[in-house]
Amino acid sequence: MNKNIWKKFVYLAAILLVMLIPVSDISAQTERDWMTNDEFLQKLDEIEANSSGKVQVDVVGHSRLGNAIMSARVGTGDQVILINGSIHGNEKSGAEAIVEILDYLGTSDSSFAQSVRDEVTIVTIPRLNVDGLEIPQRQNIFPWDEVVSDYPHLEGAEPAWYYNQGNAGFDINRDFHADLDYEVVAEDLPGNTLDFGFFITKESQILRDLYVDLQNEFGVVEAFVDLHHMGTPKLNKTGEEVTIAIDPPPLGPDDSTKYDNYPLDRDKSKRYALAAARGVKELSDKEETGVAQYIAFQERDFPGQARTAFALNGTATVLFEMPGQQPQFGYDQDLVDRVENGLWGMISRMADGSIDDLNGDDFVTEIPRYWTDNITDMRDVMGRFTEEGQFENASDARLLDNHLAALENYEKQENEEKMVKHLNGLKSLLDHQQEKGLIESEAYRRLYGDADLLLDRWERELTGDSRDIYLIGENQLID
Ligand SMILES: [Zn+2]
Repeated sequence: MNKNIWKKFVYLAAILLVMLIPVSDISAQTERDWMTNDEFLQKLDEIEANSSGKVQVDVVGHSRLGNAIMSARVGTGDQVILINGSIHGNEKSGAEAIVEILDYLGTSDSSFAQSVRDEVTIVTIPRLNVDGLEIPQRQNIFPWDEVVSDYPHLEGAEPAWYYNQGNAGFDINRDFHADLDYEVVAEDLPGNTLDFGFFITKESQILRDLYVDLQNEFGVVEAFVDLHHMGTPKLNKTGEEVTIAIDPPPLGPDDSTKYDNYPLDRDKSKRYALAAARGVKELSDKEETGVAQYIAFQERDFPGQARTAFALNGTATVLFEMPGQQPQFGYDQDLVDRVENGLWGMISRMADGSIDDLNGDDFVTEIPRYWTDNITDMRDVMGRFTEEGQFENASDARLLDNHLAALENYEKQENEEKMVKHLNGLKSLLDHQQEKGLIESEAYRRLYGDADLLLDRWERELTGDSRDIYLIGENQLID
């Protein structure tokens, strides 16, 4: 071989090496993605095999398209927590966090792992909506004509309100009923956000059946957690991005009488929500300033969700909402760690019994919001918009805040007439500033929307209309 050509080869090889090493390194990092279903099944197999019998994996049922829906169970404690992931197929972090917990509890000999296994039983369906996950889409796949062939007595009935024609499937997290024996009848269709769901989907039936089995085994299912994803909102006061939002069940105002006949324990759910929020903060090596209360202005009332139906059966229920849905948002280890830490926050306090000593009200006062339930929230967001320069003149911002300060007083006095009058005044002022180009559109839209929400509430107070008939459109539902 010609000496020069040989040299050239060596040179080329060196170049290739230099090029390949960083490239393959980078691709190894960026290639990490959410688990596929095959990877998930393989991971569960490994965890079960390595656990010396501590983790038990089962097929708990099959989806509409015939895919296996898996459950896993670890621990022998007499209090049970049921953890559900991916009820929405475009929300994937739940299973990632759950397998890490199963992996740890299946193999660790630490005294902590031992005490969790002794005191708590963890049962989980990490990926409920397997068919939706494959696409991914929020709904399952169950075209209405197939519903009618499965339930011939629904012939001619209008589809359930949470059936999505375009995606030919159901929002499974609207398909629940507090009466766990409920069977769908045509007269109840299509229903609405303030009604229970209908247990039409196989997936809701599978989760319901598992819940009922656990009720029979343990007497009561202590806790239920549902793991979701949402948008990417900012905290009212600081404008920091929300990194996890946590929520007790949305069942109307705390003083609502609508659910008086159910064993609903609102404070218990708040204690578990607080435990989750503190878990995220305590177990992270970062300063977790983005932990938030999920949007829960007092009118939110969605009894058809899994978590609300189970709460109405006496279970403490908590929702996690992680920022960013799939496929747009890729794998994020920090995000998965937050889900895991939130779960540990509850599980560890169940194990040592301290969860019952928490004060549920602390969840509301300690954890910040990114949404509005009262005028004080509006003033928080107003202060941030002012700092961010969303007003042309300082005097315009001051005018609005003076208006809000007056409203805050009327709100404390529960003066319905003044609230209605001055909220209308606030809206006119916002319109005026917007017409004159004195306010950025973000601030205008947020403050105007907030004013509308509160105006609706105070008009109802004024006219004596029940708040229990507050209907919210499907497009405003995210959890
Ligand atoms: Zn969701």
